[in-house]
Amino acid sequence: MKKLIAVLLAGLMCVSLAACGSKQEEPAQAPAETEAPAQEGQDAEAPAETEAPAEAPGEVKTVTEGVLTMGTNAAFPPYEFYDGEEIVGIDAEIAGLLAEKLGLELEIMDMDFSAIVTSVQTGGVDMGLAGMTVTEERLKNVNFTDSYATGVQVIIVKEDSDIASVDDLEGKLIGVQEGTTGYTFCSEDFGEENVLAYTNGATAVQNLINGSVDCVVIDQQPAISFVEANEGLKILETEYVIEDYAAAVAKENTALLDALNTALEELKADGSIQAVLDKYIKAE
Ligand code: GLN
Repeated sequence: MKKLIAVLLAGLMCVSLAACGSKQEEPAQAPAETEAPAQEGQDAEAPAETEAPAEAPGEVKTVTEGVLTMGTNAAFPPYEFYDGEEIVGIDAEIAGLLAEKLGLELEIMDMDFSAIVTSVQTGGVDMGLAGMTVTEERLKNVNFTDSYATGVQVIIVKEDSDIASVDDLEGKLIGVQEGTTGYTFCSEDFGEENVLAYTNGATAVQNLINGSVDCVVIDQQPAISFVEANEGLKILETEYVIEDYAAAVAKENTALLDALNTALEELKADGSIQAVLDKYIKAE
């Protein structure tokens, strides 16, 4: 529960920081000797507000002109997965809606999950959209938009497993995806030596099936897809950690961050985001 609250707080902090990040300037600290009382009439002479004009849509800079390039790991159903040659899913559709709002064409680049933040930082892609959780660690390197969905870390075990809840994970071998929050939390809580990181969720689940690990800790929706696709697995009812998903954007590109947040707000208000979530996530 402690962790749950911490993660939620981190999410909130990031949202409020992102919201005021570029605009709030700390008043310069007056040196001690100039601490004179305010001069009469000073207030009245304050210069007229020189507010920057609202960002015109055309001012958003992207890696390739006219294109919104999204980095993702397309092995994370129902957020991103292949349908034939095409990458589809919740994030792909939301990105399509965002690109449309920004008047840009969407291009999706598939990469290892652990490479996405770096790619955003170094200008390989404009945004990372990958069921990515807002974390303090990632916030050191990228900005996050407002959250568009909630994620939950759950535990997959074999049907006949003696693991019944998070409390039984002590001393077990845990499979995760490398570079994910599942990896971080499990390493912190159960010791790095008990955690085996695989390049993607499907491989982690394969290693659960062949007995190399005792369980897999992964986000709930992909977990449901993996359990549906493989016999003899189940998801424990205990929810391990609750998280906020958001898009990662380069620190410098605050114009893109603002534009994405505005678009997200509109898409939330008119029900479009919920419609995409409902299309892929079945009600229980
Ligand atoms: N939500 C997890 C994270 O951000 C996993 C995301 C993913 O594997 N695509 O670390």
